[in-house]
Amino acid sequence: MTATLLGIHHVTAIAGDPQRNVEFYAGTLGLRLVKITVNFDDPGTYHLYYGDEVGHPGTILTFFPWPGAPRGRRGTGQVTVTAFAIPRGAAGYWADRLKGPGVEVEGPSERFGEPVLALRDPDGLALELIAGESTGAGAPWAGGPVEAEAAIRGFHSVTLTEAAAEATTQFVGDLMGFAPVACEGDRQRFRISVAGASGPGGLVDVLSRPDSPRGMVAVGTVHHVAWRIAAADGQRAWRRDLDEAGVEVTPIVDRRYFHSIYFREPGGVLFEIATDPPGFTIDEPRERLGARLQLPAWLEPARAQIEERLPPLRPVTAS
Ligand code: ZN
Repeated sequence: MTATLLGIHHVTAIAGDPQRNVEFYAGTLGLRLVKITVNFDDPGTYHLYYGDEVGHPGTILTFFPWPGAPRGRRGTGQVTVTAFAIPRGAAGYWADRLKGPGVEVEGPSERFGEPVLALRDPDGLALELIAGESTGAGAPWAGGPVEAEAAIRGFHSVTLTEAAAEATTQFVGDLMGFAPVACEGDRQRFRISVAGASGPGGLVDVLSRPDSPRGMVAVGTVHHVAWRIAAADGQRAWRRDLDEAGVEVTPIVDRRYFHSIYFREPGGVLFEIATDPPGFTIDEPRERLGARLQLPAWLEPARAQIEERLPPLRPVTAS
């Protein structure tokens, strides 16, 4: 593949109640709610984006809230864990902070020499806070409730759980160019950006679980993971190369804040390659990000009906 992928762009998961989702991610975890919009393929559903101060690629966790929908099942063919990077020495702060709202936390345990706190969000989504690899590019949200020295710096890594891990490691290693960097038990770690990470979220773990049940996407599970590409020409090159390698890949889709292509790795995890530009300030200024429901032009005429169908969202005032 010709153009370099720079790391994780975003992770998209399914939530239950949107208000509870906002309270956990903007309140407890202190991320900035950078965009409130709808699922462009299903405008009756919110699409909520969290990130650092401006939602830099590498810091963006997004949710489709499906209130009342059943919980999914974590299993093979899924991104089973989404890990955030926290500063070295911040694990104690986070263990204390999460005790307050009664979040179940395990650890810190150690993995590849780094302290790992494991937790679940209110819908059961598996998260980790890893005090490790320095990230450089994250600009934590200073308007949030978490003190800046301890704030989440963006993604650390994602974990793919696979029944036949070898097919996946070959795909990400040989075809996508991720570099194997370490092994620990049944976990193999890859670095996405071989040229050197320029931002947060440069790692992927592939976990071999031949006897685990297959995952099922619903509330509390990850829908897909997106990898960063700097510009549109690189994305076109990836689309062509994947197609020539026999991988079924979608046309380029305009997601307003980035452009995307989608394909599946052999184990079934949905991958996306998303462009860095144009970003979240395309439709509201930096200081007002996430303040108001944003709709693309083709949905704007239906704003009144859309707003009526969506449950109200209150901004977070958590401490
Ligand atoms: Zn996506």
